[in-house]
Amino acid sequence: MSAIQARAGAGHVVVIGGGIAGLAAAHRLLDRGARVTVLEASDRVGGKLLPGEIAGVRVDLGAESMLARRPEAVALAREVGLADRLQPPATATASIWTRGALRPMPKGHVMGVPGAASALSGVLSDEGLRRIERDAELPRTEVGDDVAVGEYVAARLGCEVVDRLVEPLLGGVYAGDAYRISMRSAVPQLFQAARERDSLTEAVREIQAKAAAAPQAGPVFMGIEGGVGQLPLAVAESVMARGGEILLKTRADGLNRTPEGWKVLIGGDILEADAVVVAVPAQQASRLLSAASPGAADELRAVEYASMALITLVYRRADIALPEGSGFLVPPVDGHTIKASTFASQKWGWLADEDPDLVVLRTSVGRYGETEILRREDSDLVAVSRHDLREATGLDAAPVETRVTRWTDGLPQYPVGHYARVARIREHVAALAGLAVCGAAYDGVGIPACIASAYAAVDQLGGDLRGVQELTANPVQSLHGGAGE
Ligand SMILES: Cc1cc2nc3c(=O)[nH]c(=O)nc-3n(C[C@H](O)[C@H](O)[C@H](O)COP(=O)(O)OP(=O)(O)OC[C@H]3O[C@@H](n4cnc5c(N)ncnc54)[C@H](O)[C@@H]3O)c2cc1C
Repeated sequence: MSAIQARAGAGHVVVIGGGIAGLAAAHRLLDRGARVTVLEASDRVGGKLLPGEIAGVRVDLGAESMLARRPEAVALAREVGLADRLQPPATATASIWTRGALRPMPKGHVMGVPGAASALSGVLSDEGLRRIERDAELPRTEVGDDVAVGEYVAARLGCEVVDRLVEPLLGGVYAGDAYRISMRSAVPQLFQAARERDSLTEAVREIQAKAAAAPQAGPVFMGIEGGVGQLPLAVAESVMARGGEILLKTRADGLNRTPEGWKVLIGGDILEADAVVVAVPAQQASRLLSAASPGAADELRAVEYASMALITLVYRRADIALPEGSGFLVPPVDGHTIKASTFASQKWGWLADEDPDLVVLRTSVGRYGETEILRREDSDLVAVSRHDLREATGLDAAPVETRVTRWTDGLPQYPVGHYARVARIREHVAALAGLAVCGAAYDGVGIPACIASAYAAVDQLGGDLRGVQELTANPVQSLHGGAGE
């Protein structure tokens, strides 16, 4: 039993940030018997999970899919009453718009790295395929403490596989640059394999064999009827139903250590806490920690972010005929503007059922370092999306409604050295009892990884809360801000 459980109801923990990480932390803290207050700067919970409506159809305007091969997101959805609304994608096929055509997304690779060249036939040129085969003859490529995914894979298998497959796949997750992204942080299983094996294709075959031997774990991805944006709403509801407080429009401005615990500065108010979970993006976390932990603040300030925009387009079903599958990725090497398109109504059965006469598509633009495209007007982003969709799929019809959702600094970048940076941040944070950090900036940007980081933060506090003085007053009452949704 953790220290928080032992002191049921006694420890007051303030969670700063009402995104999925902060909410998951609050949920888990309540399980452990803590008294919880979540501070959320904006007027809604959820952060990058954002449910919306367009042309009368419910859609996700942010994240739209949860990896189900790791348990945290699906398990949390079940815990907060969404079990009946979990839905796998309606199609397992996708495409890649490469070398002038939409081609089936190859199967049999680990983040674009194949176990054999033949797995990528069609996607790569013959020369690109032949280059992959040289992997078996090449001397070992040392990876040291970390290496960029693109650099290592290009050294083993050639640039084409990076530019045409690894890059768009990694870009889909990080909006990043494969030649900068850390293999250790972004694809740890490949990093481990690369440390142990000389041949990368052989290492991938081994990963695949292990996966094939494991008991079938169900769908790789999962959605939620109404959108994954429903998850934070349900978690927030559960948090409040169990006595947790969620204060919207309540920005934490700073954190000070006291002999008894922590003071959270909110405008002119002070909120006292036995412990604090900082669940905000790195730049905000850096500002919050500047007084209490200048070392952590410096490291957090160095974490870079990529901005992107999602363009949602709704068409009349009668007007369009899309290729089958859930959509397509776009390698940047071909010079197109969009980086991916999701055929949302084909991907999610619940969305197709929302209005059978309408079809929802979305495109994304913006990668790390690409700022020009995001300075364009919404109408321009719709126009470039329509242009690229026409080229890729022949779709010429006019949408009945469009929506541009901008995610400025939406995705943290994990460049080479990120793993070591995060270790240093955690070391600084661990030096301060009653402080933990979690969220997308640390050990993974996906929803399950953010939830896992929240649970790890709570476990860390479980130790720290031992022996902390009980707080009897409830200073929350004096604060402005409404209750959560
Ligand atoms: C466009 C887009 C699409 C994505 N698609 C997917 C997907 O399909 N699947 C997937 O798994 N992942 C996806 N991701 C990644 C994933 O959604 C995010 O990494 C994750 O939701 C981040 O959660 P978080 O709680 O760490 O941070 P956030 O969602 O950023 O939440 C942080 C919260 O803290 C609040 N805050 C900030 N500063 C303060 C302060 N000082 N005081 C109080 N509150 C503060 C913010 O308002 C925000 O609500 C996507 C990301 C983006 C941007």
